[in-house]
Amino acid sequence: MPDTNYHFDTLKIRAAYDPAQHSQAVSPPIYQTASYEFRDTKNADGLFALTEAGFLYSRVNNPTVDVLERRVAALGGGSGAIALGSGMAAISYTILTLAEKGGRILTSPYLYGGSSDAFRRIFPNFNIHFDHSPNIDDVTALEKDIKPDTKAIFVESVSNPTGAVADLEALANLAHKHGIPLVVDNTFATPYLLNPIKYGADIVVYSATKALNGHGNVIAGLIVESGRFPWDNGKFPQLEHTEYVLRDRATGRERNFLEAAPDAPFVTRVRLTYLNYFGAALGPFDAYLALIGIETLSERLDKQVSNAKKIVAWLEKNPHAAWVKYAGIPSNPYYKLAQKYLPRGVPGIFSFGFNGTVEQSEAFLDAIELWSYHVNVGDARSLIVNSPKTTHGELTPEELKAADIEPNLIRLSLGLEDAEDLIADLDQAFKKVFGE
Ligand SMILES: *Cc1c(COP(=O)(O)O)cnc(C)c1O
Repeated sequence: MPDTNYHFDTLKIRAAYDPAQHSQAVSPPIYQTASYEFRDTKNADGLFALTEAGFLYSRVNNPTVDVLERRVAALGGGSGAIALGSGMAAISYTILTLAEKGGRILTSPYLYGGSSDAFRRIFPNFNIHFDHSPNIDDVTALEKDIKPDTKAIFVESVSNPTGAVADLEALANLAHKHGIPLVVDNTFATPYLLNPIKYGADIVVYSATKALNGHGNVIAGLIVESGRFPWDNGKFPQLEHTEYVLRDRATGRERNFLEAAPDAPFVTRVRLTYLNYFGAALGPFDAYLALIGIETLSERLDKQVSNAKKIVAWLEKNPHAAWVKYAGIPSNPYYKLAQKYLPRGVPGIFSFGFNGTVEQSEAFLDAIELWSYHVNVGDARSLIVNSPKTTHGELTPEELKAADIEPNLIRLSLGLEDAEDLIADLDQAFKKVFGE
């Protein structure tokens, strides 16, 4: 199928839902129910053993959430997906599943503040350690950072907040050479601007709170699985062990996740263990809102990309911006990778250096009127934030330096307003601060 906007929108976004089965309702109904009536004892047996498809209990699965999972899997070319109560739950459950009983994850210094904090300060308590390699942009040098107990490579396709673009194909080849999966946080790009599975990623995680939903009204996350990783290579016994709960009740034979869910063993393991027992379930109403948001994904991102280009061009010529980091400009070190991986455009989230003191940059933020000052991204509203003090405020000065976050960094996330209005607002705020 050609990779066009038409197919992206209409076929995949409408996937996984048959109105004929739901009173011909064109929008997926909100199944606001905790549990589901079993038809009979045989049906109950089959549902528990995963030998029959259906719904059990809304902590584990729900028909509205199921449509969201299937659509996001379809958009990214995955074999299965699981929706969770937040992007952080998607990341944490992925890491716990991959490095169960301990191990290392090879990652980048360029990460979302919440991921960075969790990786440095929480996961080590579970015997899971992260190597934030400075070699992440150079696969040849990176190879020596893979240790015998490294369980995965984890990167953001376009990083928060500096917009570093990961060389996914090279990273996937390296990971696969060592029998480990490539995990990609694709929150900024969304499947519309970049499909990591196409370049070899095995697991893709999303904060659907951001551009996927795009309306700042839901906290949600997803894990999508490619269906291609050989989990039976001996490094992931947690997927190979037979489980009493997965025994086929007709034959009594115990099965493992690869046998019980051959298309999507990873997300099924997440569902039946971490979601089931740790419980960061997404509610059906939030899933419904995310589904509505996704219907306009391509239109919103096209507008955000075109707005970003205009703001970047204006800031580049503005003496109050010391620098602009946007992989869509030829002088950016990630420009070539962006040309390869982001042909539809570089996500409209980027940063610039405020050319002035910290006090002046705070006065600038206080003078802003149209842009919204808060810590979301990918929203329909245009957002502005001083990342070193907010989204990345938990990082030490050394960690900020390694993450390439300078003290004067201001992050912008383009929304759907008119670019000229957004520029006029930045302009009046600069003028107020510098008395022009
Ligand atoms: C926001 C964000 C997350 C965390 O998602 P929540 O839905 O807020 O839990 C993870 N990764 C990136 C890149 C993000 O921007």
